[in-house]
This record gives sequence, C-alpha cells and structure tokens, in this order.
Amino acid sequence: MQFVDVVGQQELKNHFITEINSGNIAHARLFYGKPGYGALPLALAFVGYLFCDQRLENDSCGVCPSCLKVQKLQHPDLHFSYPSVQADAEKSTMLIKHWREQVNENPYFTELDWLSRIDPKERNMIISVHESHDIIKRLSLKAYEGGYKAMIIWLPESMNAQSANKLLKVLEEPAPKTVFILVAEAHETMLRTILSRTQVVRVPKIEDADMKAYLRNEGKLEPSAIDRIVIQGDGDFIQAMAAFDNVDDSTANRDWFIKLMRVSYRKDVLGMLDWAEEVSGATKDSQKVFLEYALHMVRQSMLKNYTGDQLTRLTQDEDAFLANFARFITGKNLRDFMLTFSDSHYYIERNANSKILFTNISFQVMRYIHAA
Ligand SMILES: [Zn+2]
Repeated sequence: MQFVDVVGQQELKNHFITEINSGNIAHARLFYGKPGYGALPLALAFVGYLFCDQRLENDSCGVCPSCLKVQKLQHPDLHFSYPSVQADAEKSTMLIKHWREQVNENPYFTELDWLSRIDPKERNMIISVHESHDIIKRLSLKAYEGGYKAMIIWLPESMNAQSANKLLKVLEEPAPKTVFILVAEAHETMLRTILSRTQVVRVPKIEDADMKAYLRNEGKLEPSAIDRIVIQGDGDFIQAMAAFDNVDDSTANRDWFIKLMRVSYRKDVLGMLDWAEEVSGATKDSQKVFLEYALHMVRQSMLKNYTGDQLTRLTQDEDAFLANFARFITGKNLRDFMLTFSDSHYYIERNANSKILFTNISFQVMRYIHAA
C-alpha cells in the first residue's frame, strides 16, 4: 500500500511524510475514524514509506524489496494484531492468512467483514491478554532487516483492561526503532492510560473533491452518477462503494420519480398507466428501493422549502428538478406522500399486485399535488 492508493487525506499524508523524513518519529500513535475514512490504509502506507529503501518525495517507491514485502504483508519486521474469537487459543499470527487475504482484497473493510471471514458464527471478538503477551514477545525480537519494526494493532478498543494494561509499558518505552500504530474506530471507549501514551490522530471524512477525483479515474461513470455516489458516500469510502454497486438503480430511480411527478401533475392518465406498467416490470427489490428513494426525495423537498439548500443532500440533477418541484410538497400533503410510499413498501414486501399498486400510487400523487 502506497500513499497514492489511499483515497484523499492529503493533509495527513503530507504530515507523515515530513515526520518520517525528519527522522523524529513518534513511537506510538493512534488513528481513529470510521473504517471507510481509511485509517488502516493510511497506517499501511505509513509503514510502507517508513520501510522503503528508496523513498520518493511524496511516496514510497513501490518497487524496492522492502516495498514489495510490505505490499504482500510479508515483511518480517511488520507485525499485526487484531481481534479474534477464541481468545484463549488463538493468536493473530494464526490468522495471518485470512488477514492477508482481507487486506489484499480490499483494505477498506469493517469489523463485521473481518468477523464473518474468521468466524461463521459471528461471536464476540477480543484482543486477549494472551495476544498482548504475544505482541510483546514478537517485538522483543531483533529487527530482521536492521531497520524499523512496526506493529499495527487493528481495533485496539477490543482489548479488555487486562490485555491493555499488559501493553502499557511497551507502549511507553518501546525498544528503539519500534513504531506502534493503533487503528481504532472510536477512541472514547479506550483506556485513558493507553490514550495518554499515544499520539492521537483523527482521520476525518474523505473530502467530496477527493472522492470525485477517485471516481473520475475509475472511468465509465457519468457525472451525475459520480455526484450521486459522492453524496451517498458522505466521505466514507465503504459507503461510496456500496452506492457505486447500485449506480444504475439510482439513475432509474431518479427518472422514475421525475416521470411520476410530471405525469401526475399534468393529470396525464395514459402517462400514469404507462409509468405504472414500467415500474411494475422491475424486480421487487428495485421497486422497494424506488419507494425508499421517493421517500428520500419528499423529505429533501421539505428540507429545501424550510432551510433553502443548507441541509439538502442532492445531486445536481435532483437539485435542478426540486428547484421547481419542491413547492408542491407542503405541510398539507407531506404526511399523505410519506404514508403512500411507506405503505406501498410494506405491501410490496407482502406480495401485493405491483401493477395495481403503482397505478394507485400515481392517482394518489395526482390528488396530493393538486391539493398542495
Ligand atoms: Zn521502496
């Protein structure tokens, strides 16, 4: 993992590069932020840069033997610790194969992704005192390659008091050239004694412009689709990728919503029947997603009316449509709109005839709009 592979976070990257080049490196730090903001990828890129034999100005070289070993997570001086389920019997080193697979597949992942990978029964995970012992043992070895040693502890909040206390001493006075990086989701639940021994770094949301630049490089996406993914992602790469997978749906949803409002406003009965026919031809899942989207748009219209654009989360296309349409959603009909869409969602789940149901929706919407 190089810095270039980490989405956004340029400010933190610059900070780390300066720190590493200065040679004056904090020996224990804690990154915290939602997994989709990229704390773990940043930690990996940090170590990659620290270990690189031919550092470039802005990144590790990516091709020297150290870089290659870090990329494969097989550098002998790069250690990992993470929660596991069989606290008494299992050490991180025993799960390293799963860990490498997960990080290589996608370094942006959640606790649940990890849990479902290591334990189909999804029991509670912890970093046990047994594991803390092992961390100390592994770090007491001499660096194989004579340079730095690094220990990345993922989700340190899953240490109990006993295992955290075990690590205090080594966090405070690690052997020379040993670097700890704790990668947490939240720091509020961590022991104060741990926090006081680490340099705490908040990993913020990815900026919209950075997410947009990343998606543009992916190619193949229309600007309106990129806008939608960026909005739904809300600075979180994992969330953005989920939206990315549904991008075709979201364009269809927008088009269906606009068409519904137009034909209903014009009292264009043939157009309404045509619309119902089209939507009822989609899969049941798509129909449900559409109804959720319609609820979202009704709420956004209300927000637009009351707050201007301050609180709305809309793409450019949607915003342009709502600029004219939002005035048709008022205190008089808001509840009717919400009930129609949420009740229909309920009936679809219970196998209602979707053609009748969507035809009904269009007639109700026609009434509500003209009652505004
Ligand atoms: Zn290198």
